[in-house]
Amino acid sequence: MKPVTEPEIRAAFVNRTKGEAKRLHVPRDLADRPWPDLDYLGWRDPQAPDRAYLVTELDGRLAGVALRSPAAPSGQARRSMCSMCLTTHTGGVSLMVAPLAGRAGQQGNSVGVYLCSDLACSLYVRGLRSAGPGARLHESLTLEEKIARTVGNVTGFVANVARDSRR
Ligand SMILES: [Zn+2]
Repeated sequence: MKPVTEPEIRAAFVNRTKGEAKRLHVPRDLADRPWPDLDYLGWRDPQAPDRAYLVTELDGRLAGVALRSPAAPSGQARRSMCSMCLTTHTGGVSLMVAPLAGRAGQQGNSVGVYLCSDLACSLYVRGLRSAGPGARLHESLTLEEKIARTVGNVTGFVANVARDSRR
């Protein structure tokens, strides 16, 4: 994706009010992010690790979703698959929930998704980060096709949250 700035990020959230978007945590190291290798920018709030955020390009514009990641269950880490990049982790996938805005949000509705806990799907798809042996399926797809699939999953999710937040 193209590099983005903090004001662009704050203006992009589809499920936060303007006031909330102004206050939420945005990474300070935006200049150092590996933009050409990112399908979306994802991060957590270091002061509130249950809060996660992702922004991506949707129909030529930047769109962002604020997520809540409930505390990981204690005990044995389970193997599960990220629904965006299809990487399997042992204990490295979180169920994240996007609270909706608008009328649906007032009724307490949200959209859930299983996501790499470190929000680094782009790096796993490209082999730039590894989740260990067996984490990636052996597929006959090219890298470009895997990237396109991940982009489709992420933008589909963001589009759903945006659509349902306008109701
Ligand atoms: Zn992932």
